[in-house]
Amino acid sequence: MSGYVTFVGAGPGDVGLITEKGKQSLMEADVVLYDRLANPRLLKLTKNSCQFIYCGKLPDRHIMRQEKINQTLIDMALANKRVVRLKGGDPAVFGRVGEEAQAVRNAGIAYEIIPGVTSSIAAAAYAGIPVTHREYSASFTLRTGHACEKNEKKTHCDDELGDTIAYYMGVKNLPHHCDALMKKGFSPDTKVAVIEWATTGKQRTVEGTLATITQIVKQQNIQNPAMTIIGEVVALRQSLSWFERKSMFGKRILIAKSSAEESRLERYFLNEGAEAYALPTLKHVKRNISVAELKRICSADKLLFLSPESVSFLLDSFIKNGYDSRDLPPHLYVLSEKTAKCLRSFGLKSEKVAQPAADMVKVGYDLQRQGEVIHNDVATHHLQVDDRFRDIDKRLLAEEEWETVIFPSKASVDAFLALLKDYDYPKEWLQKLSYAYVGDRVKAYAETKGFEKVDNDVQNILTLGDWR
Ligand code: SAH
Repeated sequence: MSGYVTFVGAGPGDVGLITEKGKQSLMEADVVLYDRLANPRLLKLTKNSCQFIYCGKLPDRHIMRQEKINQTLIDMALANKRVVRLKGGDPAVFGRVGEEAQAVRNAGIAYEIIPGVTSSIAAAAYAGIPVTHREYSASFTLRTGHACEKNEKKTHCDDELGDTIAYYMGVKNLPHHCDALMKKGFSPDTKVAVIEWATTGKQRTVEGTLATITQIVKQQNIQNPAMTIIGEVVALRQSLSWFERKSMFGKRILIAKSSAEESRLERYFLNEGAEAYALPTLKHVKRNISVAELKRICSADKLLFLSPESVSFLLDSFIKNGYDSRDLPPHLYVLSEKTAKCLRSFGLKSEKVAQPAADMVKVGYDLQRQGEVIHNDVATHHLQVDDRFRDIDKRLLAEEEWETVIFPSKASVDAFLALLKDYDYPKEWLQKLSYAYVGDRVKAYAETKGFEKVDNDVQNILTLGDWR
């Protein structure tokens, strides 16, 4: 198959706001070029062999130039790769997809453009502001607040502005835009909201009027990325705000990972409005199962699958070695519904049990780490730190002000310490944070390593177990 390029809108921040099509393209991609505002968590959808290219600003490097981005898209596609160009929000809304698609087209390469939820609409929704309303607003305008030579004329053209106006990239020029609108006859009392890092746990919203907002933004130190929404609809936020009322809104939580299960904690806290990130990112690596091991499985009476991956990895090895599902033991067991579902997709019935029993042969991953080594009877795969995420993890760790670290297991305490050492984090950094644990054993273990200050809010949730 020849290479092609898919321009994908990543949505504004919340990973749930990408489209099904966008997700599918990421799952099939051989290489992803992504910007700073595309949520890097989305890259976890890619296959293990997919390569990532960051096009945003790095502390030690300049931003990747547009010509270089265009050329990379072309070169990768010509090398027969499926290329995804992942952009924040919608790729066409102040996202230069026009220029990039033109370059790709001129090189004779096929492409698709998958739209995304643009940040003005998303920011308004997550701040509780309906962009149109039968009583207050009959139109909605998207504008760039950034004046560069090329769009200078366009930015200041005297068109009809509309009832609700969104300014992208507008923090720096906010005073200028407010003045210009008032000169055009907008009342100084016109409502304005500025929303920073919309749709994420870092979202901050400030409100004012055309006359006052500049001062408020300055006082509150609102920075990019931020969206300015101007119009009477802003007032509706008083009653319609919902995201900012979530139980964990604004909380910044790291989840120390040592197994693949812990993404559930990340999802739970993201859904409750927190900024949550589980790290390091782990990947499943298939293990070669020996013929002797396969024979042992086939001659057993009871077989327990510890995870969905163990099902597909084992059946893979079966087929490669001339076996098939009819050679499985007569009694199959699972610990979770997810694994049962995976077996069903192969036409296999299983029974759910709470605990492994001594007479079951167990298949699952082999956790090769200190602390809590799980000995499986047959390891189908390993969990390894996914090195592709090193830079991303490092950037997120440094750029954000984390408050709390969750330790789901003893092994995660060691993994977290190893990670910090690897990234040269000073011990003092840990003293600024609070901690929460899944279970008393983990707590006791973490305390011996100096993680003592408990975050009671988060600990309560973990103790109640609602996230499971
Ligand atoms: N293509 C993007 C916009 C790119 S321009 C889209 O459709 O949303 C970059 C500007 O988008 C930022 O300067 C900021 O004004 C806005 N923006 C992007 N993500 C945002 C977010 N999460 N919260 C607030 N503004 C955001």
